[in-house]
Amino acid sequence: MSIITNHVPTDELQALDSAHHMHPFSTNDELGKEGVRVITRANGVYLTDSEGEDILDAMAGLWCVNIGYGRDELADVAARQMRELPYYNTFFKTTHVPAIALAAKIAELAPGDLNHVFFAGGGSEANDTNIRLVRTYWAEKGQPDKNIIISRHNAYHGSSVGSASLGGMAGMHAQGGIPIPDVHHINQPDWWAEGGDLTPEEFGLTRARELEEAILELGEDRVAAFIAEPVQGAGGVIVAPDTYWPEIQRICDKYDILLIADEVICGFGRTGNWFGSETVGIKPHIMTIAKGLSSGYAPIGGSIVNDEIAKVIGGTEFNHGYTYSGHPVAAAVALENLRILEEEKIVDHVRDVTAPYLKEKWEALTDHPLVGEARIVGMMASIALTPDKASRAKFASEPGTVGYICRDCCFANNLIMRHVGDRMVISPPLIMTPAEIDEMFVRIHKSLDEAQAEIT
Ligand code: PLP
Repeated sequence: MSIITNHVPTDELQALDSAHHMHPFSTNDELGKEGVRVITRANGVYLTDSEGEDILDAMAGLWCVNIGYGRDELADVAARQMRELPYYNTFFKTTHVPAIALAAKIAELAPGDLNHVFFAGGGSEANDTNIRLVRTYWAEKGQPDKNIIISRHNAYHGSSVGSASLGGMAGMHAQGGIPIPDVHHINQPDWWAEGGDLTPEEFGLTRARELEEAILELGEDRVAAFIAEPVQGAGGVIVAPDTYWPEIQRICDKYDILLIADEVICGFGRTGNWFGSETVGIKPHIMTIAKGLSSGYAPIGGSIVNDEIAKVIGGTEFNHGYTYSGHPVAAAVALENLRILEEEKIVDHVRDVTAPYLKEKWEALTDHPLVGEARIVGMMASIALTPDKASRAKFASEPGTVGYICRDCCFANNLIMRHVGDRMVISPPLIMTPAEIDEMFVRIHKSLDEAQAEIT
C-alpha cells in the first residue's frame, strides 16, 4: 500500500514522521511530542491539511511560491519533460534545450550585463558557487589574495558550509565549525532594533560605512566581494534606510569590490520589480537566484554573472558543478513559471495594485497595542512586537518568546505567518487577491489580540 496515494490517518503519519523524518531548523524531539501538521494539498494561497482544514499561507511556503499553488501548466510541463528527457548533465561538451532556454530567458530578464547563468539546485548551492566564482575570478586576474568576502550579521545565505559561513546567523555559526576562513561580517542596517538615537538616514550611512572601514582594515587588495540581500528576509524583513544602498554602491565601486546581490527571496517579483536590486537601486556584478525562479515547484537556483566575470572565468577550467546543475525538468518548470509571471503581468500587478493595497493595511497594524514598527517592500513585510512603541523596547522575556506565542496563535487560526525573534513576517504568494488580503488581516488581527491576551 502506498502511503502517498492512500488515506492514512493523521496520527499514523505523525508517528512515522516522528520516528524517521528529521526536520530542518527544528527541535525534532519536541515536534514528535506536539505532532506536526500534515499538509496534503494546496491551491492558490491556501494549503489543506490531512484533517481537511484550509490554511492561508501568508509565507508562500518558504518565501517561494510566487505564482501560487495549483498551476497545472507547470505539472504538465514537468510530465512532458520527464517523458522526453528526464535527466542529462551539462558537464562535458553537452547541453539540452531546457537549460539553454532558461539561461537565455534569465539573461533577458536580468538587468544590465548580467547575461550568464551557472545553475545550482537551490540558493545555498548557488552561494557556494559564488564563493568559488569570485575567488577564481580574482585569482585569474592575478590577485589570488583578494579572497575575503564581506557579509552581514543576521544575513541568511543558505545552510551549506559555505553559504552558512556567508550568512551571519549566530545560531548557525554556533554549530558545525563555521564560518570558513576569509569571511568577514559587518553589522546589518536594522534601524528599529539597533539605531539608538540616530535618525534612520544617519544610521543607514553609519552602517554602510562599516563596509569601508572593514575594507580599509582588511586591505583593499584582500577583499574580493560584498554579499547582501537587497532586503534581508530571514533576518526579519530588514529594509535598509534610504541612505544605505547608494553608499554601499559607492564603496564597492571605489575599492573595486564585487557586489553580490542575494536575490533568492527578492528576485522574481517579490519587491515589486523583477529583482530587488532594481528596487534598492544597485548594480550587482553577481546575483544569486532560487525560490521564485520556479515558484518552488521544482528545486533550482543559480548565479547570474556579468559579461566581465564570465569572460575571465571562461578563460580557465572552472572545477565546479552539481549533478543537478540545470536539471532539465526543473529548468522546464522554471521556464514555464517565468512565462506565467511575464504573460500574466504578475510583477506589474504587484507593483501597481497588490503591494500598495497590502502596504496601506500593513502599516495600519501599528495601531495595534502590540505592534511597534511595520516594514514593507512589495510583498514582503514584518512587524516588530514591543511592550513600548515609543522607546522601541524589547520584551523582558527571552527574545523570540512573544513571537513564538504569536506564531502559534496564527497557526491555530489557520494562518501561516513566521516569527523571527519577536518580529512577525509575511511573504505571501504574489497572486493574492484583495479579498484574500482582507481575509488575511482578519486572521492577523485575531491572532495579535489573542497573543496580547496571552502575554498580559
Ligand atoms: N539566500 C537567501 C536570501 C535565502 O533566503 C535562502 C533561503 O531561504 C537561501 C539563500 C538558501 O536557499 P536554499 O534554501 O534554496 O538553499
